[in-house]
Amino acid sequence: MIFNIQRFSTHDGEGIRTIIFFKGCPLSCLWCCNPESQSFGPVLMYNPGLCRKFGDCLKTRNKGITASPDGIQIDRNLIQNPDEFRDLCASKALIVSGEDLSTEQILHEIEKDQPFYSSSGGGVTLSGGEPLSQGAELDVLLTELKRKKIDVAIETSLHIGWERIASVARLTGTFLVDLKHTEKEKFNSFTGGDADLVLENLKMLAKCHDRIIVRVPVIPGFNHTVSEMRSIIDFTKTLYKLSEIHFLPYHTLGTEKYRMLGMDYKMKGNKKVGVEELSGYVDYAHSLGLIAKTGG
Ligand code: SF4
Repeated sequence: MIFNIQRFSTHDGEGIRTIIFFKGCPLSCLWCCNPESQSFGPVLMYNPGLCRKFGDCLKTRNKGITASPDGIQIDRNLIQNPDEFRDLCASKALIVSGEDLSTEQILHEIEKDQPFYSSSGGGVTLSGGEPLSQGAELDVLLTELKRKKIDVAIETSLHIGWERIASVARLTGTFLVDLKHTEKEKFNSFTGGDADLVLENLKMLAKCHDRIIVRVPVIPGFNHTVSEMRSIIDFTKTLYKLSEIHFLPYHTLGTEKYRMLGMDYKMKGNKKVGVEELSGYVDYAHSLGLIAKTGG
């Protein structure tokens, strides 16, 4: 299931890229800017600013939706199938994020931009969510992309069993690996996951794949200190043949989505990080001989 296709991106890999965003993630990072990606199924998003109160959603008689003077109220516990609301709201105040596309349909979308890949050295980037959490269809898609000689980058947290990573490694041009923290407790309290799993997977991947870029989301209150960032950079430096690290500054662009999903944004009050705040991290990485930059 995917929740977005972004065309003509010049981030997240070389050249001009089409980014396919898959739904479903084993982590739940508190700063996640795509919270609609975390669940594996479709989710309902409501933007009261667009609501024209025509009431098409109320006509479904779903008990989870009730009228209020400010628009509608949603009790998500009472909505078992968000698909009931797909394409129902003419003003797009109520939308369903998440669509099942076949491998052929995804390939068709990717191939629309093929001339731009050839001219720019680009390709497709699989993102999410966690693309490696997808099932066998992902392997079919990767095999087809390889056959068609379309470059593939996978953006991943590597928070998954090693067998899954090994199974896609030979079909993947570049791994863009999110390395969030090196400390087990801190990693777990902010993402719900296991840092050791990520670190061990990254060590093994570095031994068998020659195009990996480590990407570090720089998050105030989580890892934006000299000691924590040096620990991440030092770890990167130990990795076999791996030489490139990017620092991605925290931003608040996804916060509105939490309100639309009825979710609590737990990093309220955090200010966005300016790229100038990252120069010390870049300099330190350079001093160790790594290629380093800010941004994707
Ligand atoms: S790994 Fe990425 S998609 Fe998953 S919760 Fe964290 S930030 Fe969101």
